[in-house]
Amino acid sequence: MRSLTYERLFIGGRWEAPATGQRIAVISPHTEERIGETPEATAGDVDRAVQAARKAFDAGPWPRMTVDERMEKVEKLATVYAAHTDEMADLITAEMGSPRSFSRLGQATGALAQMHLTLATAKEFPWIERRRGLFGDVQIRRAPVGVVGAIVPWNVPQFLIMPKMIPALIAGCAVVVKPAPETPIDALWLAEMLEEVDLPEGVVSVLPGGRDTGEHLVRHPGVDKVSFTGSSATGRHIAAVCGEQLKRVSLELGGKSAAIILDDADIDRTVEHLKTASLMNNGQACVAQTRILVSERRHDDVVDALSAMMSGLQVGDPADDATDIGPLVAQRQQQRVQGYIDAGLTEGARMVLGGTDSPRERGWYVQPTLFTDATNEMRIAREEIFGPVLTVLTYSDERDAIRIANDSDYGLAGSVWTADIAHGLEIAAQIRTGTYGINMYTLDTTMPFGGFKQSGIGREFGAEGLSEYVELQTTISADKMPDLT
Ligand code: NAD
Repeated sequence: MRSLTYERLFIGGRWEAPATGQRIAVISPHTEERIGETPEATAGDVDRAVQAARKAFDAGPWPRMTVDERMEKVEKLATVYAAHTDEMADLITAEMGSPRSFSRLGQATGALAQMHLTLATAKEFPWIERRRGLFGDVQIRRAPVGVVGAIVPWNVPQFLIMPKMIPALIAGCAVVVKPAPETPIDALWLAEMLEEVDLPEGVVSVLPGGRDTGEHLVRHPGVDKVSFTGSSATGRHIAAVCGEQLKRVSLELGGKSAAIILDDADIDRTVEHLKTASLMNNGQACVAQTRILVSERRHDDVVDALSAMMSGLQVGDPADDATDIGPLVAQRQQQRVQGYIDAGLTEGARMVLGGTDSPRERGWYVQPTLFTDATNEMRIAREEIFGPVLTVLTYSDERDAIRIANDSDYGLAGSVWTADIAHGLEIAAQIRTGTYGINMYTLDTTMPFGGFKQSGIGREFGAEGLSEYVELQTTISADKMPDLT
């Protein structure tokens, strides 16, 4: 087993002593025991990293290299990473409790796939194009946005670093990555892999830390763009700070997605899919389908099927292949989710399954919990719970279902379950969310992903994701431009 303790921070491509002796202890959510520790980056470290990034961007070779040359470095990183995906997945499971079945596929392999997919997108990307303008030839150049501060949460840590760091690097940016304090070890291991790729000095830093570290990075005048994934509350604050400084910002935030089950849906198939779509990663997924909308006619059948599925879930050691639901990331999350279960009961919803008692003596586990007879005004229907808790809501007719689905501050994802796909598309067109699924919900990481409303600004993945890391430069000329080579 590799070492889970780090003494240094990765600043501008070198392992440097941290500015202070502050440490982050990583506690296993399963055993509640310490599994490793890293330095905590503080303001002085952020200053050094941004200074190095600034120098790399303003005067270094990286943004002046060709796109192909930068892509070669990313290809090399993908090769190094590919040799370690299972080990990386298991490390993430140890850090934050993602069940092995999910972490192997959704965490590390997903992260690796993104490197290859972004490389493929970059090959087709119009870095420089010519158009006919009002006065003759015009050149549109996509220039790197500059120094990027990339801030990510703990729930899918590697999977969230990649759609920021990889397109930013290919575009020619320098990047300061700030992982969450719950998952600093996987991020510093990624830094070790980056070291093997031998990027020019200053191009990447990895600085684990909490709120203050992130805040300092966001406010730093040397940062040109902030790319953030996390809660809507933090995102709103970051957007305000960036707004003041006219700093570019993209935000991937929370969700409270509705699965609309129409009367013609195959209930068994629907519930089998919802097992993952609603409960993946122990329910700690921004896109989780947590509001289940059903008509009165099908209500009892759906609740019975959901209840049977959820009571069959194996809750336990996330390192066990057979585990469906592992522990939540931290005790505060366990208490928060149990608080929501209490709120559901207090507000008058009917609990079909689950409860506030912890299902295991040790570890930050929460029982898979199913509510019905809820209204969309209740907290369990409005707020992001981020745990294995589902809420069934009854609609009177299809218009009502669409109204309820849209009656949310969030607009990240959603789904419709129906035998009539053409009708499913008509429903999708009436829903205000950035992604939508018909008889499935999962991410297609080749396509634009992001939120409407409070779920974010901007898109990740695909050409749109790459566009977040470039500025458009328009050049006109009095005389004919030479052809592009
Ligand atoms: P959070 O907002 O508390 O923290 C996210 C990151 O921001 C962490 O690294 C944290 O240290 C940092 N941070 C906190 N305060 C900051 C500040 N003032 N300035 C700069 N950085 C700061 O989120 P969380 O609760 O850890 O993560 C879960 C949230 O992330 C959920 O709301 C979830 O829906 C969302 N999420 C969204 C997506 C998406 O793609 N839309 C994906 C995964 C998770």
